[in-house]
Amino acid sequence: MSVDTLLERLHNVKAIKPMHWIAGCPICRSKNGRPIAVTEKDGGIILMKPFCGCETGDVLRALGLKMSDLFPAREGHFLPPVRRAFDPLQILEALAHEFMVAELIACDVDRSGQYDGEQRERMRLVSQRVTAGVISLGTHRAWDAIRKVGRSP
Ligand SMILES: [Zn+2]
Repeated sequence: MSVDTLLERLHNVKAIKPMHWIAGCPICRSKNGRPIAVTEKDGGIILMKPFCGCETGDVLRALGLKMSDLFPAREGHFLPPVRRAFDPLQILEALAHEFMVAELIACDVDRSGQYDGEQRERMRLVSQRVTAGVISLGTHRAWDAIRKVGRSP
């Protein structure tokens, strides 16, 4: 929850310095002025302290909030989104499939003596997929090494 949500629900809110506010108590209705101290900490944690004798939990309940609302939502702040890495075996299986497709097209061309637009298009896809697979495996450095082997010194 953002500190703004809490401040919107409190009354008689006054900013006293950056990230620090005081406000009236929704339970005892601020007999002592602004007894609720609110601070927003780094990472979005909100500290709220009533100095009127009311309990923090009761004040939050009176505002329609709960203790966990004082902490930022987990997925947004504490845990960065996890990006699952490709499984190398799956990539190799996909590459094997593409090479098989290429072999079948080569057999067709050999048998028919023709290389049509559909076959050419599929072979282009094989090339793109193999390149993408190799990059996904992080072996583009290996490709540089392979290309150097083919060059004359
Ligand atoms: Zn109070």
